Amino acid sequence: MAQVLLGKEVADVLTEELVERVAKLKAGGVEPSLAIVRLGNEADDLSYERGALNRAEKAGVKVKVFDLPRDLPQEDLEQVILEINQDDSLHGCLIFRPLPGQIDEEKIAALLAPAKDIDGFTDGSLVGVFKGEQTGFAPCTAEAAIAILKHYNVNLNGARAVVLGRSLVIGKPVAMMLLQENSTVTICHSRTKEIAKAAKDADVLIAAVGQAKMVTPEFCNPGQVIIDVGINVDEEGKLLGDVDYDAVEPLVKAITPVPRGVGSVTTSILMKHVVEAAERATD
Ligand code: NAP
Repeated sequence: MAQVLLGKEVADVLTEELVERVAKLKAGGVEPSLAIVRLGNEADDLSYERGALNRAEKAGVKVKVFDLPRDLPQEDLEQVILEINQDDSLHGCLIFRPLPGQIDEEKIAALLAPAKDIDGFTDGSLVGVFKGEQTGFAPCTAEAAIAILKHYNVNLNGARAVVLGRSLVIGKPVAMMLLQENSTVTICHSRTKEIAKAAKDADVLIAAVGQAKMVTPEFCNPGQVIIDVGINVDEEGKLLGDVDYDAVEPLVKAITPVPRGVGSVTTSILMKHVVEAAERATD
């Protein structure tokens, strides 16, 4: 049976560390604060926002929600972003995506100050991830996957890592972060031939494709650690990962469940980024 890598344990340790850092900032007169920009009331956004508010309260981070209409014109959103950039009391900004059709997302990303971009939205943040430098911040979910591996002392140095998925939100940044940890990384995607064969020898397998139960026993080996980033919903409304958990779990060394895996760590990383942004602004 595999070791089950629960996200809560990681999230709790991260939050404990944050409480101390927040206390230090507050002692110096700085209250780390997050701006959440939400257009409309999409169910996924509201659910993530609830999780973020809950985690912020635990960490001691202040949150200001910009609850805006879904049909907000481009110019008005630009104005909000400029205000956030200029407001020294706001250290980080999370903008829920995808933005509605009337909004030019790239233009918004170009406007947001990378120093406040705590979810890897801007080019500045992504350059930082690719160069291994602290310009902006990595996308939270990608960093959550790495945080889980580190928390459970999974050896990444020299490890063979396979990433399934190449999106800018997860696949590409997580691959770069593994490279930074001295793993040898293979990135697979929808055009990869013999994908199971490519995954089979991996010491670390990151699944981020958005295809329920795609990872089957033929992708796996007994020494493998699997991080399942996928969130899929079946016909009965049940949450499923990208891994066929019941079939794979008995065959590998360790695995994150869905739910209770990566998703539980993401909001802690978000708060970590806000605190880091406040610390950087103070330094
Ligand atoms: P995305 O933008 O749709 O990207 C999916 C990637 O998977 C693409 O690179 C695609 O390849 C690849 N892919 C799709 N079908 C494939 C297949 N059959 N074989 C091989 N590769 C395949 O999705 P994303 O934003 O990266 O998200 C990935 C998953 O993570 C989704 O389930 C999403 O819901 C979940 N997610 C989880 C969290 C969390 O906190 N746990 C946060 C955000 C997202 P191509 O590039 O060739 O099209």
